[in-house]
Amino acid sequence: MKNGVMMQYFEWNIPDDGKFWELLKKDAKHLHDIGITAVWIPPACKGTKSNDVGYGIYDLYDLGEFDQKGTVRTKYGTKNELKEAIEELHKYKISVYFDAVMNHKAGADYTEKFLAKEVDPNNRDKVVSEPYEIEGWTGFDFPGRKNKYCDFKWHYFHFTGTDYNQANGKKAIYLIEGEGKSWGEGVDGENGNYDYLMYADIDFDHPDVVEHMKDWGRWVAKELNLDGMRLDAIKHINEGFIKEFLKAVRAERGKDFYAVGEYWKQDINSLNEYLSALDYNIDLFDVTLHYNMYQASTQGRDYDLRNLLSDALVKLHPELAVTFVDNHDSQWGSSLESQVKSWFKPQAYALILLMKEGYPCIFYGDYYRIGDEESPHRLIIDILLNARSKYAYGDQVDYFDHPNTVGFVRLGDKKYPNSGLALLLSNGENGNKVMNVGQNRKGEIWYEFTGNIKDEVTIDENGNGNFLVEGGNIAVWVKKSE
Ligand code: CA
Repeated sequence: MKNGVMMQYFEWNIPDDGKFWELLKKDAKHLHDIGITAVWIPPACKGTKSNDVGYGIYDLYDLGEFDQKGTVRTKYGTKNELKEAIEELHKYKISVYFDAVMNHKAGADYTEKFLAKEVDPNNRDKVVSEPYEIEGWTGFDFPGRKNKYCDFKWHYFHFTGTDYNQANGKKAIYLIEGEGKSWGEGVDGENGNYDYLMYADIDFDHPDVVEHMKDWGRWVAKELNLDGMRLDAIKHINEGFIKEFLKAVRAERGKDFYAVGEYWKQDINSLNEYLSALDYNIDLFDVTLHYNMYQASTQGRDYDLRNLLSDALVKLHPELAVTFVDNHDSQWGSSLESQVKSWFKPQAYALILLMKEGYPCIFYGDYYRIGDEESPHRLIIDILLNARSKYAYGDQVDYFDHPNTVGFVRLGDKKYPNSGLALLLSNGENGNKVMNVGQNRKGEIWYEFTGNIKDEVTIDENGNGNFLVEGGNIAVWVKKSE
């Protein structure tokens, strides 16, 4: 059972000053001190320009080393600064997960002419034109890198589709023609076939592409001494490739090389099917739980908290779910905006940080800041991280039995003296709940760890405590030390 805490160490609006890897390096000790055991770093490959967050990826082999796209560094700094940050994190036993953007490529060096067919954006299996010649941005030769590390050059036949015809300026989704060419299989079924997401879509049915991408995965993992990867946009990538890719990287880096996939869909069946297709050799972000928390935060007291964990991935596959509250895509103004409202963040973080199941991930924007705006949630996250490391051990007993006040008990583990806790979450009035923390705890005095409530609770002879929670808040009850 994993017991760590991941931090997504970036948000969308980080300044384009190339100082981020330096900042991360300086923060390594602090991250260790607050209990972070892994960081998911932002996509570190050269993008379309220095101010590219990294998802507009240009060159997989340029980690801020070559003068390409008008800049040597990426938004976050140079490759050397990245390596130094990773070394420092490793000093503090913090694992580093690389954000691997493999679905597409952007910012091609030149256009090529080739045959393509337009498809219906809402049903990509439906072709809506005859094949005709278009001029697309599909030629990549990376002149600034001069074949260092790898001499693979990309052409239109390494891609399945693109979205722009330079010859006449027409935007559409173009399926590239060629022998055996089609959208990939093993992708999400939304829009008929969701292989195409953006830019030049990589063709994972092309054997040269498959070998090249596996080579890259082995290279980058070794070059940066990575401990794992966060795989971007996997619902748009042939699942058979992802399986083969992870096998190849793990063959070189060891079977513990970590992987979590971003399969962004509010549908537990799709997540479950994906895990099965990958033989359960990957974790997935718990997108269904995120949407439950989002919904709870928008509905206030009308949300029935008994449903908070309904259809959550963490319930179905506790060992494979990365639980999170928000990320760079769900944050305000982003593509998949569904930001959990501020008042519910304490409830959401208490849930993911104190529950037994899942691998929790804290969002940089919730802990530090979004743009220039400091987060108001840092203090409560610090308190919850502290509670997690001291008390959140042992089996869990749920009390999801009231629409506005729910909670659970962690029974504690002898390895951690005085561990065990009682959590209550409220979205309505002040509440209370009798919960059993174990008969062996009779006579103990418990207090509320976040400071929200000043009263104390005495555990009765049966192990019950009558725990309180303020309306619309959280309460974390633990044993008072003598
Ligand atoms: Ca794709």
